Amino acid sequence: MLSLAFSTSSRHTRNLLMTTPRRSSRFQARELEPTVVSDVLRTSGGKRKRAADDVEYTPQNDSPGIQIGEHGGTKATKKTRLPKSEPTFIILDVVRKETTFKGRLGYACLNTVLRNKKPAKDAVFCSRTCRLDSIKKNGIEWVKDLGRKNVEDLLTMIQWNEDNHIRFMRMSSEMFPFASHAVHGYSLEYCAPLLAKVGGLAKKLGHRLTAHPGQYTQLGSPKPEVVVASVRELEYHCEMMDRMGLGVDSVMIIHGGGMYDDKPATLGRIKKTITEVLSPGARARLVLENDEMCYNADDLLPLCEELDIPLVFDYHHDALFPSSIPPSEIIKRANAIWTRRGIKPKQHLSEPRPGAITLMERRAHADRCESLPADLPDDMDLMIEAKDKEQAVLQLYRMYGLHPVKYESLRPPDENQTKETKGRKSSKKQKTSQARKEEEEE
Ligand SMILES: [Zn+2]
Repeated sequence: MLSLAFSTSSRHTRNLLMTTPRRSSRFQARELEPTVVSDVLRTSGGKRKRAADDVEYTPQNDSPGIQIGEHGGTKATKKTRLPKSEPTFIILDVVRKETTFKGRLGYACLNTVLRNKKPAKDAVFCSRTCRLDSIKKNGIEWVKDLGRKNVEDLLTMIQWNEDNHIRFMRMSSEMFPFASHAVHGYSLEYCAPLLAKVGGLAKKLGHRLTAHPGQYTQLGSPKPEVVVASVRELEYHCEMMDRMGLGVDSVMIIHGGGMYDDKPATLGRIKKTITEVLSPGARARLVLENDEMCYNADDLLPLCEELDIPLVFDYHHDALFPSSIPPSEIIKRANAIWTRRGIKPKQHLSEPRPGAITLMERRAHADRCESLPADLPDDMDLMIEAKDKEQAVLQLYRMYGLHPVKYESLRPPDENQTKETKGRKSSKKQKTSQARKEEEEE
C-alpha cells in the first residue's frame, strides 16, 4: 500500500490511519485516491490551515503508460491514461470514552461498505424491489427472483458482520417485494431452503435478526382495509422469520401509527387488532416503539404492560416527544416485560444532525452517534439508527473499546453533514413520509 507520513496539530487528526479496501469500493461521502491525496487534504482542510509539517504525497512515477501497483510497484501498460486507483481512506482517531456496556450494537438493513462495492454488479444488499408496473411487465417469478437475490446477499451481510464483531442487525422490510400485496402477494415457500440456510447461519453465529415493518403498518386505522393490509404485512414478516427458524429474540417492531383525530379510540383499535386479528405467531414477535410525533411512552407503556407486549425505548424519539415518565423508569418497566417474556431487551439510539433546530430538522438522524446514553443498561441490545449504518457501530466500537475493528472496514465520516438528510421532497407530507421511511430503514 502507498504510505503517507502525515502529522498535524489538530486534536482529532493526531492519529491518522490510511486504509485501502482489499477490493475496489466507493465511499458515499469522501473518497481519497493516492494520486489526489494532496489536493484533497487541501480541499477537506479548507476549514483548517495546512500544518507546516503536513506531508504531500507525490506519485513516484506518473509518466503516461506507467501504472502504480497496489504495493507501490510499477508495471508498464499499453494504456496511455492512468487507470483509476483503488480508493484510499484517511481514518481519523476518535475521542476515547468509557462505558460498562456489554450488550450488542446493531445497524439497520444496509451495509455501506458492501452496498457500494464496485463494479455495481458486486454490490451486496437486501432491498432489491420494483414498481407494480414491473410485475405486470416481467411477471411474478421475476419479482420472486429479486427476493431470492436479497436473501443470498443477507448471507454475505451476516458473514461480514461476524468478521467485524457485529452480531445484531435489522433485516430490510423489502426482502420480498410485494409479498404481502393483496393481489400479487405470494408465499415464501419457494425460498424456504435458502431462508433456513440464513437462519441457520445466524443461529450458529449467535446473531440477532429483527425487523421493522414499514410506516404503512397501521394497526389502529379506522379503515378496515388498512388494518387488513397491515396484518398481512406483519404475517409476512413473521413467515420470513419462522422459515428462517429464528427464535423469540427476532422481534418485529412497529410504531403506534397515526392518531386519526382520536388517540384513545385509535389505541383501542390497536389493542383489538393485536388481540383479535393477529395470529399467535405474529403477536409473539410483536414489539411497540415510542415515536416522536404521536405515541410516546405515556401512551404505549400501559398498553404494552396490559398485553404483555415489549416496548422498544427510542432515546431520540423520547427526547423529541418526552413522556412524563423519566427514561430510567420507562426502561425499568419495559425491561420487566422483556424479561417476563424471556426476550432479550433492545433499544434504539440515534442523534439529531448537527445544527438541527426545527422539529423536522431534529427528527433526521445524524450520520453517527457521538456517545452511548447515560441510562443505557449494561446488558441490552442497542440498535444504532444512524445514516452511516455499520460505520456508526464501528465508530462506537473504537470510541468505547468495545470490540477490535478491522481498519480496511472503516470509512471516514462525511465532513459536510447537513441539517437535513439529502433527497427530501418538498411537501410537508412527503417530508414526513420520507423521514419515517428513513427511520425504519435506520
Ligand atoms: Zn427507532
